[in-house]
Amino acid sequence: MRVLIVGGVAGGASCAARLRRLSEAAEIIVFERGPYASFANCGLPYYVGDVIKEEKHLLVATPELFRDRFNIAVRTNTEVTAIHPETNRIELRDRQSGAETEEAYDALVLSPGAKPIRPPIPGVDLDGVFTVRTIPDSRRMRDWIQQTGARQAVIVGGGYIGLEMTENLVERGLGVTIVELQSQLMPILDPEMVEPIQAMVSRKGARVLLNDQAAGFEPAAGQRLRVQLGSGTAIETDLVVLAVGVKPEVELAVAAGLKLGSRGGIQVDDQMRTSVANIWAVGDAVEVLSPITGLSGPVPLAGPANRQGRIAADVIMGRDSRFRGVQGTAIVGLFGMALAATGPGEKLLRREGLWDGPLQCEKIYLHPGHHASYYPGSSMLSFKLIFSKRDGRILGAQAVGKDGVDKRIDVIAMAIQKEATVFDLEEAELCYAPQFGAAKDPINMAGMIAANVLRGDSVLLHHEDLAATDAFILDVREPGEFRRGHIDGAVNIPLHQLRGRLDELPRDREIWAYCFVGQRSYYAARMLLQLGFRVRNLSGGFRTFSLQELVQSRQGAKT
Ligand SMILES: Cc1cc2nc3c(=O)[nH]c(=O)nc-3n(C[C@H](O)[C@H](O)[C@H](O)COP(=O)(O)OP(=O)(O)OC[C@H]3O[C@@H](n4cnc5c(N)ncnc54)[C@H](O)[C@@H]3O)c2cc1C
Repeated sequence: MRVLIVGGVAGGASCAARLRRLSEAAEIIVFERGPYASFANCGLPYYVGDVIKEEKHLLVATPELFRDRFNIAVRTNTEVTAIHPETNRIELRDRQSGAETEEAYDALVLSPGAKPIRPPIPGVDLDGVFTVRTIPDSRRMRDWIQQTGARQAVIVGGGYIGLEMTENLVERGLGVTIVELQSQLMPILDPEMVEPIQAMVSRKGARVLLNDQAAGFEPAAGQRLRVQLGSGTAIETDLVVLAVGVKPEVELAVAAGLKLGSRGGIQVDDQMRTSVANIWAVGDAVEVLSPITGLSGPVPLAGPANRQGRIAADVIMGRDSRFRGVQGTAIVGLFGMALAATGPGEKLLRREGLWDGPLQCEKIYLHPGHHASYYPGSSMLSFKLIFSKRDGRILGAQAVGKDGVDKRIDVIAMAIQKEATVFDLEEAELCYAPQFGAAKDPINMAGMIAANVLRGDSVLLHHEDLAATDAFILDVREPGEFRRGHIDGAVNIPLHQLRGRLDELPRDREIWAYCFVGQRSYYAARMLLQLGFRVRNLSGGFRTFSLQELVQSRQGAKT
């Protein structure tokens, strides 16, 4: 068995290593266009930021290690230029000598990844305009910063890579401006969950220009650049980082007649087989199915690429492994905060018509401490859980905060994969000591809040419901909190006074109760419901309300 692999980083390298673990007899050759195989692309922003100081630390495994430890040949600087499925052969070009050769395969695995999008705008190829995909890319950027004494950077795109580059350049002392086309950073997530990150970026002195785009780049004095914005203004800067997304590298696959999916990635089945015999494909180049929404498309994340590489190896060696699909579990760290998600967000579900449709979605918000509040150092974790009203099945979650974000999202990620419900979260047994969590962990709390809704013990309302209502809006916080900010038209009766002031509440109208995070108003709602009032509770309280108001004002600024 002769297995050839195109691309020697996440998917390709993991496929090669797994193949060897399953077969000592197979001949395995990896072709990598670039000078390095198996490097840590996810570490590149931190190399630019000098957090990772030496390039060698980005190399997860060298060709020598592959040869000595696994008896796998890795040929770097070697580009696969054509595939001939009818003869099971590929064409190669040595990028240093220019020599062209051919190789035959029994099985071929494509893991060519995705390339950064370079929008076709004037000046995009000027010196000083960078993308971040390879070690040489980040080395060039480091050198440029040093040689020009760069003090300012413009980052085009406010997604994962744009934010990581922002953090690293700010920490290196550069003044950063992020230009983002949409009305929020991290457009893939729900805007209210991104607001705390947006606030942190601003606190760190980075400028964020939303609803705008780079329309062109021109040379300016010295080695500087002028960035023309769609809004008509211009910014002078020392360097530009393009971080507007990636697109699957499919040219080789298309030329060989492999089918693509509807979103431009290589079409594969759940065993990573392409539409052409003896050819598998994995990683950023392929389309994957979301087990929750049933939608397919490329999801460029390292975890799925690694697992798919392993599955392709299993299948090539005759095992019946299958890929579960990708629900999109991801995290970004920024200035000591983290923003993470698993499963589809509300924005995507509404856009795809799934929110009120077959999935029958509901959401809850909570803002607990990341560990027991009595133990020093507790910080607020903002958490949003999306579940189905039909049966309580968990569909997605997003969380933002300083600590404990990754742990909660990972628990939910696994719960989704096991098709768990909010009732399972109520009962989830999780580790606890005061410095790590709470006896009722935020995961349990989320389950309890959602289960209360499904059992009818709590009737929710959301920010969007407040737009037009004649309900009596009841704020049960303390007067000092009320004075610092409240919902227009709200009446303040602190929770501890409520039993004595029932005659101030209407019996002919709904009462919409809120507090800071939704807990005191839940106590109020339970009391009033038992006394015959009709009550709803604002999910996530004034904290979520304030985040939603910020989102609304940004979206309003666009129109
Ligand atoms: C800056 C950055 C930060 C990231 N951070 C994260 C993160 O924090 N978390 C996360 O989950 N994901 C992250 N990712 C995404 C993650 O790196 C990718 O999802 C993953 O590397 C995809 O693996 P892959 O094997 O499909 O492609 P890649 O790892 O990109 O490897 C593809 C390789 O194929 C080679 N190649 C392409 N065509 C040919 C050809 N014709 N012949 C020979 N070789 C070829 C390319 O040179 C490339 O080296 C990040 C990506 C980048 C760029």
